[in-house]
Amino acid sequence: MQKVKYLILGAGPAGLSFACKLSQEGERNFLVLEKEDTAGGLCRSEIVDHAPIDIGGGHFLDTKDNEVLDFLFHFMPQEEWNLFKRDSHIEIGNLQIDHPMEANIWQMNIDNQIEYLKSIAVAGCNAGIKKPELFSQWIIWKLGRRIADDYMLPYNQKLFGSNFEELGTYWLEKLPNVSFEETLRSCIEKKPYGKEPAHTFFYYPKKYGYGEVWRRMADSIKNKIIYGYKVKMLDVVNRVINNEYAAEYIINTCPWSDFELDNIPYNLKADTNLLKYVSICVEYDNKELASPAQWVYIPSQEVMEHRILIRKNFITGAKGYWKEINFERYKNESNKVSYCNTYSYPVNSMDKPRIMNSLLSSMKLKNIFGLGRWGEWEHLNSDAVVRHALNLVQIIKSG
Ligand SMILES: Cc1cc2nc3c(=O)[nH]c(=O)nc-3n(C[C@H](O)[C@H](O)[C@H](O)COP(=O)(O)OP(=O)(O)OC[C@H]3O[C@@H](n4cnc5c(N)ncnc54)[C@H](O)[C@@H]3O)c2cc1C
Repeated sequence: MQKVKYLILGAGPAGLSFACKLSQEGERNFLVLEKEDTAGGLCRSEIVDHAPIDIGGGHFLDTKDNEVLDFLFHFMPQEEWNLFKRDSHIEIGNLQIDHPMEANIWQMNIDNQIEYLKSIAVAGCNAGIKKPELFSQWIIWKLGRRIADDYMLPYNQKLFGSNFEELGTYWLEKLPNVSFEETLRSCIEKKPYGKEPAHTFFYYPKKYGYGEVWRRMADSIKNKIIYGYKVKMLDVVNRVINNEYAAEYIINTCPWSDFELDNIPYNLKADTNLLKYVSICVEYDNKELASPAQWVYIPSQEVMEHRILIRKNFITGAKGYWKEINFERYKNESNKVSYCNTYSYPVNSMDKPRIMNSLLSSMKLKNIFGLGRWGEWEHLNSDAVVRHALNLVQIIKSG
């Protein structure tokens, strides 16, 4: 049995950031186990039709956390990235309007503006009605019937598929209520209301896909990563993987339900299998689209994909676009280039906070830590995952 101080499960952004930070701090006694033959997880890219595709879906770097930016720029300097102003659209019938919808209703025809305004005026949040617990009802309560029916309900049904009705609302607490007064003002003044939405500016590599920064990170610790190695069993009490690797600390960034947990109470094991996820496929199409948007949300149930990414609008010299499709809806009818990721979106089901609290606290007592999108089962973007990894190194090192 091989013994190390730190065993890191998974070489996606979370595992790589944790391992590279350890390395930067002079630690050499660590090992990363990765089931694929390349690093980067959901953030990997491939070259298709002479330009990159992000095989886990469109990935853009946007953070206000300078330490995270510096950490990433250390591996891929800022000069190698383009900075873009976000231009994302929502397709409603034949019209594409700017995102977010509630701030851009002024771009619709007058009849629609009136209908949307009427439904915002009586939205539950504006009418003092108690907040519902279920996501599907909460959307109507929060945004009004029209935005819900035309965009948010069908879009989220497409994205979350059979998990849609399981979603809670605890992860959306910070979203502001839709404002009748501001929407009306925006329609009269013909300009978006409110502050600039989140992710107004983002970085994307000039010459590569988003996967390049993670590839370089992996390269910097290449002797410490074992590729093609699937974690199948974690013995919690002895901190042993597959009866082959033992560690003082285990940092798990893989989905907890993807391997067997040995030596833990039965109820905890059973609960772990209740954790839900959404699988997403990415499919390439070489057709040229006229839209100037970098990406477009497509709520129509008639169309398979829920989002498309138009490469020429963020990758110099590229053509074509890629589609993001929930695996349950996916049909590759014309043998197009495609990639499917089983674990794409962790689902914020009603019972997830209870399950993760008890799982993570029990594991921590054994010096096993959950990190990243799957280790924490949180809808974390890659910048947030880096932040959590940097923090976890400090927490463990400071005892
Ligand atoms: C469609 C989509 C769009 C996104 N857009 C953005 C964006 O614009 N900007 C952004 O910052 N983030 C975005 N994200 C989020 C980003 O993908 C994640 O934050 C990031 O990939 C999380 O990193 P991670 O290491 O926690 O998980 P992952 O990337 O999932 O990595 C987990 C790693 O563990 C490995 N693994 C899994 N099981 C095992 C096992 N049993 N044994 C060994 N290895 C295993 C996997 O192969 C993988 O390498 C997006 C995600 C999706 C799905």
